[in-house]
Amino acid sequence: MRKEYLPFALQDTGPEEIEAVTACLNSGWITTGKECKKFEEKFSEFLGEDVHSIAINSATMGMQIALEGLGITKGDEIITTPYTFSATAMVGVHLGAKPVFVDICPQTLNIDVDKIEAAITPKTKAILPVHIAGHPCDMDKILSIASKHKLKVVEDAAHAFPTTYKNKLIGTLDSDATVFSFYATKTMTTGEGGMIVTKNKELVEYAKLMRLHGISRDVFDRYTTKGAKWYYEITAPGYKCNLTDLAASIGLCQLKKAQNFQKKRKEIAEKYLEAFKDLPVDLPHHDENMHSWHLFILRLREDSPIERDLFIETMEKNYNIGCSVHFIPLHLHPYWRDLLQLKKEDFPEAYKNYLRAISLPIYTKMTDQDVEDVIFAVRDILKR
Ligand SMILES: *Cc1c(COP(=O)(O)O)cnc(C)c1O
Repeated sequence: MRKEYLPFALQDTGPEEIEAVTACLNSGWITTGKECKKFEEKFSEFLGEDVHSIAINSATMGMQIALEGLGITKGDEIITTPYTFSATAMVGVHLGAKPVFVDICPQTLNIDVDKIEAAITPKTKAILPVHIAGHPCDMDKILSIASKHKLKVVEDAAHAFPTTYKNKLIGTLDSDATVFSFYATKTMTTGEGGMIVTKNKELVEYAKLMRLHGISRDVFDRYTTKGAKWYYEITAPGYKCNLTDLAASIGLCQLKKAQNFQKKRKEIAEKYLEAFKDLPVDLPHHDENMHSWHLFILRLREDSPIERDLFIETMEKNYNIGCSVHFIPLHLHPYWRDLLQLKKEDFPEAYKNYLRAISLPIYTKMTDQDVEDVIFAVRDILKR
């Protein structure tokens, strides 16, 4: 057994990030300022299309502001899947809208596009697809359904940096907005943080206004040129969810490494795919699109000698390796179950796949030996 515990996830930060944060601390300006602006510019540059990026303190707040800015309000319905993290659907609740779940496609764990239209009602205003694990949803289909029914599309791209769909990076498609997460365990991190990406200039202005108290920059700029640096006007019921320059300075370093991070995770994924192909498991789906490999989700088949919970416990106790589960479908959580009056069987694919899903460690800080240890443990358990 490994001497040292292998955690399920670990951020990849080093001397560059420490230097950048130190420089920011020494600069005398640690909250939203120059570093954030630069981070936004570099992020748009990375995506390489005509997009605008608005830094935010989390993907959760990014999705909420994007939906609100696109006009989603009380009484509206938003279509998403139950196979995601709760934030995807909770942002709708805070806007007074109702999340409507559509089951997943068992092959990809993404929303089953063939079931979306049946869930559309006169109240439906938006679709919120989630690129689970970093594999893109069928965006052509989603965008064409949205355009046919005049719905907004906001992509939950918390897992999808960088992911491509038909050779285009997620973030550059024709959705109304795409939101990325820089939470500690994501493919790049700022500790906490997120980015709203959109081609819609009005949404850019709205998000900038709402992320910082509803303070109007235009007025601010107008008065500062006259020298009155203290003047501002509150023009909207804004939130407080700006990103700090400290976080942005980390983000700028991470962004430079993002391509390499993806390459490294892909290498680990390829080793896993090769090593597990004779085991009684379903391997994660991947195709010609670039997969961010944020998660590597194995699913135990019926002929597996062990069930999921015991598998994870064994990995932990006998092999000193941390695993996780993505996701506990939302309709199993008491809040969602009671609010929307849902039963386990309502989304059978989400439920069945959750019961057999295991997320293995996959991150750039893993050494070759760490990867070998995971492979050994998984094979050892499943070959019995
Ligand atoms: C992590 C995550 C979020 C939330 O991101 P935050 O930046 O922590 O708000 C949303 N959706 C999915 C699918 C996630 O995994």
